[in-house]
Amino acid sequence: MSATLIDGKAVSQKIKSGIAERVERLAARGIVPGLAVVLVGDDPASHTYVTSKKRTCEALGMRSDLLQFPASMSEEDLLELIGNLNRDPEIHGILVQLPLPDHIDEFKVIVAIDPEKDVDGFHPVSVGNMSIGREAFLPCTPHGILKLLEEYEIDPAGKHAVVIGRSNIVGKPAGVLLLQKDATVTYCHSKTRDLKNFTRQADILISAIGRAKFLGKDHLKDGAVVIDVGMNRDENGKLCGDVDFDDVLGTASYITPVPGGVGPMTIAMLMENTLLSAERGSTETK
Ligand code: NAP
Repeated sequence: MSATLIDGKAVSQKIKSGIAERVERLAARGIVPGLAVVLVGDDPASHTYVTSKKRTCEALGMRSDLLQFPASMSEEDLLELIGNLNRDPEIHGILVQLPLPDHIDEFKVIVAIDPEKDVDGFHPVSVGNMSIGREAFLPCTPHGILKLLEEYEIDPAGKHAVVIGRSNIVGKPAGVLLLQKDATVTYCHSKTRDLKNFTRQADILISAIGRAKFLGKDHLKDGAVVIDVGMNRDENGKLCGDVDFDDVLGTASYITPVPGGVGPMTIAMLMENTLLSAERGSTETK
């Protein structure tokens, strides 16, 4: 039997259509959701990401300001810019593209963003609220993963979810959200001994490592749901995930492809957070 493909592109399109309709309803009241995307330096991958975020915003009728600065920008200037964006009523979401140049303290920058505009969900206030199950902007990639599971009617309740990776932006929050959906969660990372022993117990396996085709069918139990967050290049320079897709097709029950799985969901959830922020603001000022 071959695994069912979890089509993140199609699901993200559906989410984006819903967003576009809500944007139109806000526009009728004179409100345009605005996202400020700040890019410091000239990292090519970051450039690609911010351009695609801006394009998606505009396609959905939202405003997007791409603010680009040289790598030499000072921390002080960046913090001042964020202060200005925090006060700008037409900006509902602020995203500072990571990584930042070494002389800028990423944490200082993240905490400078008003939590009400923290559409990436990286501010400690957002992380704290998410962790205790209160309303918060959820980090886009883990939120996108939950949406995919929901769309394919894969209920994490009672299942063993094994998350490989413990970064603050993907692995850690993915585990927290799955726990809130009543999964039993195990985290694995680079110091985990005998990784296979854990992955083979997974009903749902989330891989956020960043190593091309690192996991094969030997890592899976029959019928596992595989969510591959990794975005890597294979030996031919082709985009691929952490999972050897062809190898596991006969073992997994569901799998996200790379590209076309988790990636498109991340952007869709960013758009949703920006829209939510604008909707919240509009209710408060009604
Ligand atoms: P990261 O900060 O580098 O974290 C990687 C995690 O993998 C770490 O926790 C690390 O463990 C663990 N790890 C590394 N080697 C391992 C091994 N051999 N066995 C088990 N665990 C291992 O990366 P990230 O930002 O979370 O991103 C992970 C991947 O997802 C990357 O490929 C990235 O490009 C991709 N990504 C995709 C999207 C999307 O929208 N599709 C969004 C974000 C990220 P330690 O903590 O012990 O070092």
